[in-house]
Amino acid sequence: MSRPIYLDHAATSYPKPPAVISAVADCMKYRGGNPGRGAHKLSLEAAKEIYACREVAARLFGAEPERVVFTLNTTHALNVAIKGLIGRNGGHILCSDMEHNAVYRPLYKMAQDGTATFDVFPTFSTTRQWSKSRILSSLAAKVRPDTRMVVCAHASNICSAVLPIEEIGQFCKRRGLFFVVDGAQSAGVYDLDVDRMGIDALCVPGHKGLLGPQGTGMLILGKGITLDTLIEGGNGMDSLLGEMSKDAPERFEAGTLQTPAIAGLRAGMEFVEAVGINTIREHERRLGIYLQDGLLSIPRVKVYAPYRKGGVVLFTVDGYNSDEIGALLDRKGICVRPGFHCAALGHRTLGTPDGGAVRASLGWGSKERDVEALLQVVGRL
Ligand code: PMP
Repeated sequence: MSRPIYLDHAATSYPKPPAVISAVADCMKYRGGNPGRGAHKLSLEAAKEIYACREVAARLFGAEPERVVFTLNTTHALNVAIKGLIGRNGGHILCSDMEHNAVYRPLYKMAQDGTATFDVFPTFSTTRQWSKSRILSSLAAKVRPDTRMVVCAHASNICSAVLPIEEIGQFCKRRGLFFVVDGAQSAGVYDLDVDRMGIDALCVPGHKGLLGPQGTGMLILGKGITLDTLIEGGNGMDSLLGEMSKDAPERFEAGTLQTPAIAGLRAGMEFVEAVGINTIREHERRLGIYLQDGLLSIPRVKVYAPYRKGGVVLFTVDGYNSDEIGALLDRKGICVRPGFHCAALGHRTLGTPDGGAVRASLGWGSKERDVEALLQVVGRL
């Protein structure tokens, strides 16, 4: 079977580098013990595998290995971070108007339960020219005396727009607010450094830009950050106590970890390090602009973005529902994602129509000919 043209990297990257697949298989073959749960060789080997992955992540995100917590995905990391930092004391939270449901829904649920309140700050208005200072003023205007946290995406999952997280981090430090960053679309594509950027909790997927297997994500904690647990259970430590051990990362890793997938994640991150984040970003940016230019040259096509940048391109074609275009492209062997991309807030901000829009998202392995194949099908509509 010939491999389809995969332009859905914002959902998950595919294919994974061969080194990732071998790392998963090798771990399952040779290091199949439960990490931290036995005094035997196979358990110790599995624990080493986990630690090796923590070390690579620590290097990539500017932290020590002990501040790298493994999660199942970004959503899991965000829930642990947001709910754990807010705890039982509650308070007011601010998020941007570009958020994915991985941020919006936990905040919505907390507001429904009466645990916290939240407001949304505008970022990329379609009617006004955006700027970093305008985004910062719109954030500042929403801060209340009881505000405790700002949570926002680094890069949007529908249009590649990037929020000024370094400046937002400085703002949060000055105001004494927790700062949680959703790095789902930026990890492996943009530089991220928790300490330098003033981030208290960085939530990233392993399965997108870091090129690891599905079922991997990480929460990278800021220095000295302590939080409540979301899930309790065994972690191979302090087994006689009812209370979870105090120390990260094990405090947040109850239950058996996905060791083979974590082994694959290490290989994925090493691949990203070897190629270089700047090279990957420039590749995606160049192809993204090629795609946007091509789409804009086709009559009746509209592209939604505050500016031209990055490898995530959102578009509609007059007279067609986004699902129809998604299905047509699928029949031609091209994978994209139509609809709302779990990002109701962002779609509202960019003003997409009722049927949503089509998202084509490029990755490190994408080629010019992949873009041209998509343009050819859309051009014939
Ligand atoms: N935030 C953003 C901005 C995303 O794009 C995604 C994935 N679409 C998520 C969160 C959720 O990521 P995951 O599937 O790893 O939980």
